[in-house]
Amino acid sequence: MHVPAARIVFSPEDRAEIASATIEILSTGAMTLGAHTNEFESAFAAAHRAPFAVAVSSGTAALEIILRSLDVQGADVVVPTNTFAATAFAVIRAGATPVFADVSPDTFALTARDVAAAVTPNTRAVVLVHIGGLIASDVAELAAFCADRGLALVEDAAHAHGCRHGEGYAGSFGVAGAFSFYPTKLITSGEGGMIVTADPAIHEAALVYRDQGKAGFLGNTHIKQGYAWRLSEMHAVTGKVHLRHLDEFLTTRAAVAARYDAALDALDGATRLRVPAGDVCNYYKYIVLPRPGVDRARLKKELKERYGVSLSGEVYEAPLHQQPVFSDYAGRSLPVAEDLCARHVCLPIHSDMTDAEADHVVTSFAAALASLDLDG
Ligand SMILES: *Cc1c(COP(=O)(O)O)cnc(C)c1O
Repeated sequence: MHVPAARIVFSPEDRAEIASATIEILSTGAMTLGAHTNEFESAFAAAHRAPFAVAVSSGTAALEIILRSLDVQGADVVVPTNTFAATAFAVIRAGATPVFADVSPDTFALTARDVAAAVTPNTRAVVLVHIGGLIASDVAELAAFCADRGLALVEDAAHAHGCRHGEGYAGSFGVAGAFSFYPTKLITSGEGGMIVTADPAIHEAALVYRDQGKAGFLGNTHIKQGYAWRLSEMHAVTGKVHLRHLDEFLTTRAAVAARYDAALDALDGATRLRVPAGDVCNYYKYIVLPRPGVDRARLKKELKERYGVSLSGEVYEAPLHQQPVFSDYAGRSLPVAEDLCARHVCLPIHSDMTDAEADHVVTSFAAALASLDLDG
């Protein structure tokens, strides 16, 4: 059996619907900021119980727009070091300085204590990243910490479509959340992003920023330095159709995760992240920590070559404070994140994965881990 690292799921019916909508878009010429974008925004807002949603060209654009509407220019913004480079790029492009922080080994996410160690008198915002779709159970503590100090909490929810902690959905714990629809993400539009917020001022600013800073779609008065951050109607219809499957994808992925949980809990030599009972995790990534000393490259090679199992990409392989492009921003060492980045692996998990595939993945993982032990 061969299990790939990722699989993008569009049913034949979805493909046909997107194809016929595309023909309609091409024949009417309504190719941007039209009905499909509006419908995608409404459906995404409803799925996340958000008062407002604004569709944009990418997840990175969503982050930059949120940061620009918070006016972070010249300020410091705290970012976890174990995130995608785009999180910190958005901070820099919004005119601010990223300050990298360490994270908790239980959630891979920032805690109030990590942020306290990174804040400066010039800090204006904090970006919380829901790694792998897990919303940290201490998110309320972090939000309270930020509120006490007048820091805006922004959620990089690129991994967290449909995720929930308690009654709160991803994007509702801070001032706004940024989602991505890149092909590997839980819901995709090919390329695209979404801002969700309950703040009418951020909503208004986002509408202006995404369309070249124009006060309105039809006018030519530019009130902000915006950009071409619109989402095309072809992308919007793709995302709208894919989003209809969110609940079904969450159910399938939770079933796979339950099989993985049971198998890993019976195994020595590897631990997994714990999702609080009652919460919804989309398992964008299923994260496992093999015991210290396991050679990750060998483990991955063994799984692929001997068992046909490709692990999915790490989140993330190297922390940002150790990436060449951020050398100007690298400060102190961040030992927890450094260890997590070096050690974790992600079992493949797909929105249409079968029980047989899931069982093959975990049995292979256990066998490969044991064989590494035997070889020393
Ligand atoms: C994918 C991703 C982004 C960027 O999204 P794009 O749509 O590719 O711009 C930002 N942050 C994180 C954590 C991501 O995984």
